Amino acid sequence: MGLDTAFFAATAAEAEQRYVEFGNAITRYRGDRNKVTANHRNVSRLSPAIRHRLITEFEVIDRTLTNHAFGQVEKFVQEVAWRLYWKGWLSLRPQIWRDFLDDLAELQHGWATDRIDAIVAGQTSIEVMGYFARELVETGYLHNHARMWFAGWWVHVERLPWQLGADFFYRHLLDADAASNTLSWRWVAGLQTRGKSYLPRRSNLEKYLADGILASHGGGLEQLNNPRAMIADEDELIRSREITRPFLTQSSHEPRQQSKRFGLIVHREDLKPEAGPLQHAKPDSVLVLDHRSQGEQAGDSSCKLAWITTAQTDTLKRLTNYYDTAQVSLGGFLPIDQQIRDWCSEQQIDQVSVMRPEVGPLADALTATFDELSGHVTVCWVDRPEDLEARQLATGGFFGFWKKYEKLLRQRNRAG
Ligand SMILES: Cc1cc2nc3c(=O)[nH]c(=O)nc-3n(C[C@H](O)[C@H](O)[C@H](O)COP(=O)(O)OP(=O)(O)OC[C@H]3O[C@@H](n4cnc5c(N)ncnc54)[C@H](O)[C@@H]3O)c2cc1C
Repeated sequence: MGLDTAFFAATAAEAEQRYVEFGNAITRYRGDRNKVTANHRNVSRLSPAIRHRLITEFEVIDRTLTNHAFGQVEKFVQEVAWRLYWKGWLSLRPQIWRDFLDDLAELQHGWATDRIDAIVAGQTSIEVMGYFARELVETGYLHNHARMWFAGWWVHVERLPWQLGADFFYRHLLDADAASNTLSWRWVAGLQTRGKSYLPRRSNLEKYLADGILASHGGGLEQLNNPRAMIADEDELIRSREITRPFLTQSSHEPRQQSKRFGLIVHREDLKPEAGPLQHAKPDSVLVLDHRSQGEQAGDSSCKLAWITTAQTDTLKRLTNYYDTAQVSLGGFLPIDQQIRDWCSEQQIDQVSVMRPEVGPLADALTATFDELSGHVTVCWVDRPEDLEARQLATGGFFGFWKKYEKLLRQRNRAG
């Protein structure tokens, strides 16, 4: 493919540089973003950095709106807001994540293993789908339009369970995100919006895919002349809209208690605690979790592990400078619960603040760990106020969300 993980910003400084470079061309985004080329120059390629918050959605949105008129960059800002929307939507309905994990556990018992192995190896009757599968495995990235084509083909043409496709993506995407990934696959399969699923069509691929890729991987496209949608389960669609967790216990960073040893835990969902509610914290100790030991991330690709290694090393360096009176360390090459238990015991920590992870495997792992430690360690889950603001607007469809969020952004922009 000619790309490697270095192609995707993996440090805060690289994310900053990528944003600045992309900013020069941002007004072309609206017209060009759907065109898929081999070098992905039409899109920002910031998603791994934003997903792990080496640069936050809010920094990107605020800076974009400070430098450009709203109308010129609305499409880009709207796309960044999609991530906030999906996170908010899933946060209000965490059972969807549980159901996904249960379905996956059942399906993984031998379902279509040979067919899926062949696809992952790039052996497909529509050649370009094999090209996308290889691109994902080799680089950890796919353009949004390619993700839609591939997922639509998987569900509606290959008629494979969407959950297995979502799992394939999750294990390989550098930007893997329980909310964006699970809910986008559900949307393609027709489970998010009544009467709407996503069908990959030959005419659409031929219009938006670069000529060079089509010329060398165009075989079999006639199979997409007239694809027919799988019928979505209507009951599942209705059931899944239900809000089951309307209110999170909101907590902000609590000042350290004099009698306690106070620590911060930093994880891959928010690698920039120095820009946010924890910026004035005075911890005795900071633990940057090591995400390579594959506990809650079992099955991650080597590409993804390489990216996270760079990102967490960068975070360790930055935080050693920033929290200069604290002992800052990287966890051992151990499951996350073990890293936390060892650190609490070695550093005699009994009060912890941690940025709240979104619904997904990390939240599951951290919640279980602190449940076990309750009685010994007090934990404070810290939310960015901007996340709380967006989350409460994600009760219905995206365009209802956007109407309210856009108004809020415009007001803030005027006031700023
Ligand atoms: C089936 C499927 C699975 C997906 N899985 C993931 C996933 O696991 N993680 C993930 O981050 N995105 C996922 N997406 C959304 C989207 O494809 C990526 O966020 C986007 O391709 C990122 O590339 P970029 O930074 O170059 O995007 P740009 O076009 O430059 O967009 C700028 C930023 O906006 C956000 N963004 C753009 N489009 C979307 C979108 N549709 N949903 C949410 N955020 C968006 C990202 O933060 C992105 O960095 C998925 C989409 C589909 C169709």
